[in-house]
Amino acid sequence: MKFALEALIVGAATVGAMVGQGAMAQTTPQPAPPSPPIEAPRDVPYPGVIRLAVDATDLARAIFQVRESVPVAGPGPMTLLYPKWLPGNHSPTGPIDKLAGLVITAGGAPVAWRRDPVDVYAFHLEVPAGATALDVTFQFLSPVGTREGRVMMTPDMLSLQWNTLVLYPAGHFSRQISVQPSVKMPAGFTLAGALETAGVAGSTTTFKRTTLNTLLDSPLIAGRYFRRFDLDPGGAAAVNLDVIADHPQELAATEAEIGAHKALVRQAYKLFGSHHYDHYDFLFSLSDKMGGNGLEHHQSSEDGTTPKYFSEWDKTPAARDLLAHEYTHSWNGKFRRPADLWTPNFNVPMRDSLLWVYEGQTQYWGFVLAARAGLLTKQQTLDAIADVAAVYDHRVGRVWRDLEDTTDDPIIAMRRPLSWLSWQRSEDYYSEGQLVWLDADTLIRQLSRGKRSLDDFAKAFFGVDDGSYVTRTYSFDDIVSALNAVEPYDWASFLHARLEGHGPGAPLDGLGRGGYRLVYSEVESDYLASAEALRKITDLSFSIGVAIGKDGALIAVAWDGPAFKAGLTAGTQIVAVNGETYDPDKLKQAIRDARGTAGPIVLLVKDNDIFRTLSIDYHDGLRYPHLEPVAGAKASLDDILRPRS
Ligand SMILES: [Zn+2]
Repeated sequence: MKFALEALIVGAATVGAMVGQGAMAQTTPQPAPPSPPIEAPRDVPYPGVIRLAVDATDLARAIFQVRESVPVAGPGPMTLLYPKWLPGNHSPTGPIDKLAGLVITAGGAPVAWRRDPVDVYAFHLEVPAGATALDVTFQFLSPVGTREGRVMMTPDMLSLQWNTLVLYPAGHFSRQISVQPSVKMPAGFTLAGALETAGVAGSTTTFKRTTLNTLLDSPLIAGRYFRRFDLDPGGAAAVNLDVIADHPQELAATEAEIGAHKALVRQAYKLFGSHHYDHYDFLFSLSDKMGGNGLEHHQSSEDGTTPKYFSEWDKTPAARDLLAHEYTHSWNGKFRRPADLWTPNFNVPMRDSLLWVYEGQTQYWGFVLAARAGLLTKQQTLDAIADVAAVYDHRVGRVWRDLEDTTDDPIIAMRRPLSWLSWQRSEDYYSEGQLVWLDADTLIRQLSRGKRSLDDFAKAFFGVDDGSYVTRTYSFDDIVSALNAVEPYDWASFLHARLEGHGPGAPLDGLGRGGYRLVYSEVESDYLASAEALRKITDLSFSIGVAIGKDGALIAVAWDGPAFKAGLTAGTQIVAVNGETYDPDKLKQAIRDARGTAGPIVLLVKDNDIFRTLSIDYHDGLRYPHLEPVAGAKASLDDILRPRS
């Protein structure tokens, strides 16, 4: 481009005017005007009651049919929202891609809708004059295979999440919108959930009117094979274990197994000194067909795991912190919630900066309560903590990324698989958070000479407003103040060092103060073996630095570990080990055989149709983590895990 000298000496305003009219304006793009804003939520009641009727009977096609009547006050523009930011997911994961067949009418006449081009979860429309309600119908096409998401319907059970089944008006807090829900269930199914039933007619259950906020926090499960266990007979608030399974025999549980679940309720009450529900339902699905999940709610939790949970109790300890974790969330997460995470409706973005409390301390109490209740033995719990300590001690990504930054991962990664977990890091605020709280607990015990502990924090912080389930929010400073009230210390610096530090290594001081140290041996603990079996993997993370799936395909390769240095990457398939067809035991034997020798471990691997032979230069044998008592040290970790009487 060439400028005439005159153009350079005229005033700026003139240049601007020339650019606006000249050739540049035609060739350099400028932003289009923004879309019209969507009405922000206000804390005022939405007039009238939304009637929401769901037909969940199409098991063959896994399609939920939705019919909604949304009252309207008068003519004019209106926006309906599909829930986007989901509590417990901490992320914009509302499954809008599975909404289909949307038709809106008023008094039988069609009402045109237009999706917002920026916020695709918003539907704009014009309420016609004279209309008193909008009739909204659509389908939720739930996943029929894991490729599309979590399977929510099988021939014998279903998981009904109201956030997938409702459009709601913009402009109001979700607690200010009234809904009267009903659901038609398949014949022979029994349903469970936290909602109160108003009436049953045939296969349709109508629930008492509730708020949109409570509705979305109150999913249902239903199944052909169903069993309910009362976990707190005669207690102030009923606590039910509602179990559905693929087969009736998977519902069989021994007295001792149920006893441990009853003890979970007792131990939680001793820890928190309160409850925050009218009644509580564990919505527990034991299935290989429906997708597993763990999702907390105020008065219930969705807990999906292996069908062998009861029938192979001794082989499934790695599944047994799940209920303790989700139950803890009724206090930590639902009742007490980070102020920046709480949102007035389901389409305002969440901020996840305090998930190391919300999830990290829940992870901590989940294992502690499972141990105190007898869902896990003390040894199983120590083995689980050893694994966490070892995983985070090998988290090399710590050098570029601090723990606090991982609290954004629900939004960044949205739980998609990561190829280089040890380098990228993931939602490390869960389990590294658990180590931070072990660190804090043992420090309080040390400073107070055993008089106080993190139990005192739990009672003071979560144990207020007994019986109430009105959420109380908190900030970082509130956490620091509550810790200081238990034991005066520079807790702000303590937390900042662990949240913003770069290591080296995991925060393992809590192990030492707890009377243990992290060691490795060639023998794998039963707990870790059960975790491998549940995940259907072979875990050699701490030896050659790989985790291997069913067909020899690598799921993860430790950054800068022996396998990484040999040129392996996630997705590569191991075909042969030292000249023989791969199986996990042969690979483990090859690792044992190479110990203390100079000989390599030779692998034949396959990427697509390319075969490669490579050598792993590793000679330290199999390594599995364990906790070893430190001779002469006070074992305060033993006291942490001991049941409270
Ligand atoms: Zn959680």
